[in-house]
Amino acid sequence: MADKKKGKEGKKPHKNKPTSKKYTKYKIVGEKVTRERSCPRCGHGVFLMSAKDRVYCGKCHYSEFGSKK
Ligand SMILES: [Zn+2]
Repeated sequence: MADKKKGKEGKKPHKNKPTSKKYTKYKIVGEKVTRERSCPRCGHGVFLMSAKDRVYCGKCHYSEFGSKK
């Protein structure tokens, strides 16, 4: 009788991938879906990262300064 040891062979434990945070950019208020600001260059789907007083696109490096109040 061969004694099989369960070891490295077989199924690899798959790690959990970090889920996309894209859905956090969408908010559903009532029946309307409001989105965060998207990039005017890249179009919809590419959201601008909001910094302290500006927004920034990580894809095309577009940046826009926010309006001062
Ligand atoms: Zn862009």
